Amino acid sequence: MNRDKDARVREIVRYAYENAPGFRRLMESAGLTPDDVQGVDDLERVPVLSKDKLVELQRQDPPFGGFLAVPLSQLKHIFLSPGPLYEPHGPDEGWVEGAAEVFRAAGFGPGDVVVNTFAYHLVPAGLHLDAALQAVGCTVVPAGVGNTDLQVMILRDLQVTGYVGTPSFLMTLLKKAEEKGLNVREDLALKHTLFTAEPYPPSLRRTFEEEYGLRTTQAYGTADLGLVAYECEAVSGLHISDAVVLEIVDPATGKRQPPGEAGEIVVTNFSRTYPLIRFGTGDLSAITEEPCACGRPGPRLLGIMGRVGDAVKVRGMFVHPNQLRAVAARFPAVARLQAVVTRPEHRDELTLRVELGDPNADREALSQALATAVREVCRVRADHIAFVEPGTIPEDAKLIVDERTWE
Ligand SMILES: [Zn+2]
Repeated sequence: MNRDKDARVREIVRYAYENAPGFRRLMESAGLTPDDVQGVDDLERVPVLSKDKLVELQRQDPPFGGFLAVPLSQLKHIFLSPGPLYEPHGPDEGWVEGAAEVFRAAGFGPGDVVVNTFAYHLVPAGLHLDAALQAVGCTVVPAGVGNTDLQVMILRDLQVTGYVGTPSFLMTLLKKAEEKGLNVREDLALKHTLFTAEPYPPSLRRTFEEEYGLRTTQAYGTADLGLVAYECEAVSGLHISDAVVLEIVDPATGKRQPPGEAGEIVVTNFSRTYPLIRFGTGDLSAITEEPCACGRPGPRLLGIMGRVGDAVKVRGMFVHPNQLRAVAARFPAVARLQAVVTRPEHRDELTLRVELGDPNADREALSQALATAVREVCRVRADHIAFVEPGTIPEDAKLIVDERTWE
């Protein structure tokens, strides 16, 4: 992290402490003053503010939980996100520049006509991304959610070049266009897309990029923070926006995880309207510090693994059901898979139970390959690989079962 970010962290912590009583109370409860936070490294001392906690604080001290740092008259919008959480947006917002950086990386610019299919009412996504698209010179069609038939008409009539929304909604639109007899490559002018708010599986990416010839980019963001990380043309993890400080922390302690180890995404923005300092997103990811082929500096997120609450900690490492799904996907011979965590002799033990779809599969070779895959994907070693009879693991069973007792 550079010196510039240290100075910005120092400034925003002092500013929030002096102007947002909710943040001041949070600091006081931890025995901290702004002098204790001189830069990015010191942020670790500030308690993480989870979304649930913010909902609770807003309920106790409505409407903004004491986190509004400007007079109400300066606000441009107040949104209501699921939670429920009120979110004030003011005139100074760095998130517009942050999201503009994302759109530039995704190839959006002057001359583009873009359909923005995020909602424009109550939640911030629609207006927020609209402002960023305008900032990079695009012409926006504020299409919002739904209205599939009209959206297909718009794509064709306006020869729309850019799409912003979820990957699944774009698939719905393209299928609808084909139903109407349109050829997506010939009759539409769609070139690039920005996807967020939903996982983007590799199979869907292949369809969009190979069948339809689109350049697709996924970004990570939340309603509270806007877009904070994005893919570059190298498609190798998600670069972290310059508009924020992003940490990966152990949700139990709030302390930073080393590169490669999974933890909660915790973000500090520099908003002077509604400063969120160490906001806990509840999303699970890990960071890599390997340089990216595109030449952009700084660490990257290794995808979004899922929600923190679904993960189970095994010998200090978070293992998420989605990681096990990724392991299973590598082995066509595996019909069903389940990880069981136990704790004999006060040591966590991870057993992988495996149901084979092909009874003649080479168990010895499979066992070794599975062990390697678990180590690579979950960064934890499986102590046992146990092949079980078909039907042992119920269809709707959890992927990770925690059978530890702590007596
Ligand atoms: Zn890159």
